[in-house]
Amino acid sequence: MSKHIFVTGGVVSSLGKGLTAASLALLLRKRGYRVRMQKLDPYLNVDPGTMSPYQHGEVYVTTDGAETDLDLGHYERFTGEYCDRKSNFTAGRIYSAVLERERRGDYLGKTVQVIPHITNEIIAAIRSLASPEVDIVLTEIGGTVGDIESLPFLEAIRQFRQEIGRDNGLFVHVTLVPYLKAAEELKTKPSQQSVGILRSIGIFPDMLVCRCEKPLGEEHRQKLALFCNVEPELVIEACDVAHSIYEVPLELARQDMDVYVLEKMRLHVHDLDLTDWKQMLRRLCQPLRGAVEIAVVGKYISLRDAYKSIYEALTHGAASHDVQVRIRMVESEDIESKGAAAVLAGVQGVLVPGGFGARGVEGKIQAVQYAREQKIPFFGICLGMQCAVMEFARNVCGMADANSTEFHEATAYPVIALMEGQKDKDKGGTMRLGAKPCVLRAGSVAERIFGCREVSERHRHRYEFNNAYRAAFENAGMQLSGLSPDGSLVEMVEVPAHPWFVACQFHPEFQSTPLKPHPLFASFLAAAVRHREG
Ligand code: GLN
Repeated sequence: MSKHIFVTGGVVSSLGKGLTAASLALLLRKRGYRVRMQKLDPYLNVDPGTMSPYQHGEVYVTTDGAETDLDLGHYERFTGEYCDRKSNFTAGRIYSAVLERERRGDYLGKTVQVIPHITNEIIAAIRSLASPEVDIVLTEIGGTVGDIESLPFLEAIRQFRQEIGRDNGLFVHVTLVPYLKAAEELKTKPSQQSVGILRSIGIFPDMLVCRCEKPLGEEHRQKLALFCNVEPELVIEACDVAHSIYEVPLELARQDMDVYVLEKMRLHVHDLDLTDWKQMLRRLCQPLRGAVEIAVVGKYISLRDAYKSIYEALTHGAASHDVQVRIRMVESEDIESKGAAAVLAGVQGVLVPGGFGARGVEGKIQAVQYAREQKIPFFGICLGMQCAVMEFARNVCGMADANSTEFHEATAYPVIALMEGQKDKDKGGTMRLGAKPCVLRAGSVAERIFGCREVSERHRHRYEFNNAYRAAFENAGMQLSGLSPDGSLVEMVEVPAHPWFVACQFHPEFQSTPLKPHPLFASFLAAAVRHREG
């Protein structure tokens, strides 16, 4: 029987619940346990796929093609273990399932209610990860305790833990202990109140993780323990870390959080070996080979979360070469107004990530042209590849105003076009999604980077390279170096005459982890170092 850990959050959102959960999962895995992770989100969208980055940050895509919360990215990066669609349920998805059954007549005669129908559906979602192959299921509840929307989820985990018993289920509450400058004091009251809300609905947290700017100190630890009814050593301090989110597991391990968790659930405490993690952190936090600067050209640049996995993958790639990566976040519209040279001068690499909609596309295309002509390493991802294709069409193949039909339907040169089967579809969950195989051309740069002929990478797009133009591109010097196995879809392009010009229709950033940097990111960073060294 799998054991269950539930992580809730109190006082405010954005506390780093996901990072805490992912860090704990890493430690439990390193102690020899098989862990699966899950996030339950209280909002009513069926998945975050239809939300703007302003609302939600990045949409993370799993191998099985689910569009999910970006916390799943942390889960995968920390644990090295893939999630799937069972790892993210929203209230919208839960309600849809219940309402579908209601329409079918499955509840004929009954009143359909939040308790028990919605709560049972939530419990089924939690149970869907439990199996004889899984020792521990770690479930994070999105939102903040006290929100109306969270209530059914909290009620569900209360009932579920009642059913499985104390030794088999653990409640971890992540909370904020703010520092008040004027009073020069840490304040425990918000945490006490948030635990109070939990207790009023029947949940008694076993462990507190206190986010704080300053160390808690013994006095506050004792106070929190007393008023929140947890043992003092189960009040874990989670101060802001100095350099990298990947330091969080070490902080938790220093306080034996994982040991207490295992003891509480009556599981054996095997040895913990974090050697590889510490070596990675050394390269990441104190790199020996200086720094390179990479421009990421997007349209949600002020939002760090919108390109989360891209930034993380760049960090992994850089650490693998013992260099630091500085990211210059470039608003593509700035390139349109100021010119690429003014905005991009001095960088050792240009990355154009994925995106949707026409705003800023011309700036991205100018960024590609600048990188190609100045022989600066260029990496295009999804929309970034499509921009590379448009740029090459316009400026090398002589196809004036070549475009994607996403942005200009009547263009004379639709070098990027809507995929067959994508026409007249609903917007939610209907793109080409999830991991697909890609065959690399023998002798290509792509093959050299990956070191094999077939790879599997995750997708999220509706448009693709228009096959009518294949020959024109090949003849002009852009190689189509990766294709779907049946040869029908172009998945990678490259310019072999350029020092490093590689672009892919898939999203390699979703498969990069700090212990296993993605080969394309690692190779791009190596090219940036070479560029720096002239
Ligand atoms: N908008 C483009 C498409 O749908 C690119 C998508 C992306 O970059 N994820 O094909």
